Amino acid sequence: MTRLIAALAAAALALTACGQQPAEKTEAPATQPPATPDPAKGAVNLYTARHYDADLQLYDAFTRATGIKVNRLEMNPDQIIERMKAEGASSPADVVIMADAGALWRAQDAGLLAPTKIAELEQVIPANLRAPEGQWYGFSRRARVIAYDKAKVKPEEVATYEALASPRFNGQVCVRSADNVYNLSLMAALIERWGPQKAQAWAKGVVANMARPPQGGDIDQIRAVAAGACQVALTNSYYFLRIVRSEAADDQRVAQAVTLSFPDLGGQGTHVNISGAGIAANAPNRAQAEQFLRFLTTPEAQRIFAGANNEFPVAAGVETPPEVAAFATFKADPLPVSTYGRRQAEAQAIFDRAGWR
Ligand code: FE
Repeated sequence: MTRLIAALAAAALALTACGQQPAEKTEAPATQPPATPDPAKGAVNLYTARHYDADLQLYDAFTRATGIKVNRLEMNPDQIIERMKAEGASSPADVVIMADAGALWRAQDAGLLAPTKIAELEQVIPANLRAPEGQWYGFSRRARVIAYDKAKVKPEEVATYEALASPRFNGQVCVRSADNVYNLSLMAALIERWGPQKAQAWAKGVVANMARPPQGGDIDQIRAVAAGACQVALTNSYYFLRIVRSEAADDQRVAQAVTLSFPDLGGQGTHVNISGAGIAANAPNRAQAEQFLRFLTTPEAQRIFAGANNEFPVAAGVETPPEVAAFATFKADPLPVSTYGRRQAEAQAIFDRAGWR
């Protein structure tokens, strides 16, 4: 346990999965006092690459429901994988949480996750949003979409991902860097749906259309559209919804100027990624880890993903804020998200060849 505490301090210095500052502000946490763990129920140690304040609400709700204490260590996906490899059989990690299906696949591929069959999870989570052998399960969905300037762009001009590479948006595209996991998973999906040649041509077209070199996180791209630096940008859906639900005058101005298109990919729908979790291969607290995974599909947890971090639930029939519900009916590409990890090296090579830094 001392090792975990030392690691917590070390990880506080590290950058997180999205390459942004660790504290991405979401809505204020619940006003209830923090839950008190029951020492008799034990603890669960989380290694998480999620970087959202909202998760504190999630952990607190879990402790309140089960009495189990939550110890968490925030790192980026590579740090989690390298750390667990180094720790080997003595790793204190029970649950690995990633904000990207490709990162989960890499942890699985490194043998760090235990195949776990949990019937309730299989019932709630659609098969394309989890590992076929149960190494990880998706608990929330996020679409990677186009944010656009409402005054300058017509919705039909951004109806597909191809639009970003078309001459219409020459000098008008804002995007983050190619090594970002969200972009890598999007590229993996483009390769799956279009084949590598078209995916390569698209990457080249987007690079040619860039308004500026890749910089910042998704929120920065949305703000750049509102500021007139570009007309279109790639972003995960929840970052825009966070701005829409913010009461800050600055955010409200952005929300007035910008909206989202959920582009079509190969006639199949919009590219979807997940946040997900799996049980560590050497989990010392396996029973608590299973309880944690089960908790993530409860209506309470699913409401927190949507209410506090503006993600789309994986479970059906979950109550979500009206701003989230307004965008939740999009057609989602049913491609198995487990394909993203397998394509990651190929995706990176395509970005490199296109000069997308
Ligand atoms: Fe994120």
